[in-house]
Amino acid sequence: MKKILALIFLIAILIPRFCFAAWQPDLRIKIIDKVQSVSVETSIPSVFQIENEKNFKFLKAQTLAKIEIKNGKIFVNGENSNSTKIFLRTREKKSLTEMKTIVQNLTYPGGLNIEIVNGSLRVVNVAPIEEYLRGVLPSEMSPSYPIEALKAQAIAARTFALKNRGKHGLDGYDLCNSTHCQVYKDESSYSNSTDKAIAETFGQTLFFGDVIIDAPFHADSGGKTASSKEVWGGDFVYLQSVNDVRFDPWKVESKSDFDSIDHIYKTTSGRVEKITFRQGKNLVTLTGSEIRAAFNLPSTMFDVKCKSKILTFIGYGSGHGVGMSQMGARELANRGKKFDEILKHYFQKIEIRKLY
Ligand SMILES: [Zn+2]
Repeated sequence: MKKILALIFLIAILIPRFCFAAWQPDLRIKIIDKVQSVSVETSIPSVFQIENEKNFKFLKAQTLAKIEIKNGKIFVNGENSNSTKIFLRTREKKSLTEMKTIVQNLTYPGGLNIEIVNGSLRVVNVAPIEEYLRGVLPSEMSPSYPIEALKAQAIAARTFALKNRGKHGLDGYDLCNSTHCQVYKDESSYSNSTDKAIAETFGQTLFFGDVIIDAPFHADSGGKTASSKEVWGGDFVYLQSVNDVRFDPWKVESKSDFDSIDHIYKTTSGRVEKITFRQGKNLVTLTGSEIRAAFNLPSTMFDVKCKSKILTFIGYGSGHGVGMSQMGARELANRGKKFDEILKHYFQKIEIRKLY
């Protein structure tokens, strides 16, 4: 009986630990660069390593370490690492999911890679992907959106991160923390609703056949999404134009050098492909994207009139229009659609698979 009780006790201890330690990939995200020094602190005992995983210096929990450059090498609290790259990791084989690192007063999950690049320090956060997503989602979609829309966004953001892992591989990290990749912020940006959306879709990723898809998204499709072919030129089975919710139009007025409009060419989803304007005796042709950039328009889905050199644009939507519309996802969720139905509406013939 004692043996059985001991066994039950052991299982009770081990099961939650195994569940907690579910494997997930790590990502390397650049969070700081072009600085001469940084202050670093960790939540649990940790260690600075140099090449070949050689321990250089131990760091007690909640103790500040000052990292700086001297004579072209990295110094930690005045001690020379004799290296231009150091790694901050957990001690005693603990998982990165158990560690938090405070860099310049901002708290991030996991550890760091710190390297001298062109005479300054570059700080890369090494974090488990699901922890990374907690710092991404609140910047990508408002945490006030319905949970099914947030879950669809969590899967799209996870799919983007996995597909683009190594985008900055030549520079020694995976993703940057700006809109170039996905905006990534520290723990103070986390929100309960986005955390819930990430946890409830743990590991779920979008596939077409055996390949992780490109999962682009935008704010508002204007009533019809664009195919990738009409916007970027590449044709993908899962990035076709679909009918969508239409919200109120926008209006922009702007002065121009044009006298009149000669011809407007539109794409199959109703976006402006190009417009030929009359300017004196000349004809000037601009593409929809050029016009959008020149007149700061929310999208290329518009009609335009020209009177006394004033252009009046009336249009719909916001963003490139390819893939998932975030306002559309919110509307579909409000109408009772689940996250998988939302994703399969915007991305055709895809599968949602649990990758880990
Ligand atoms: Zn980037």
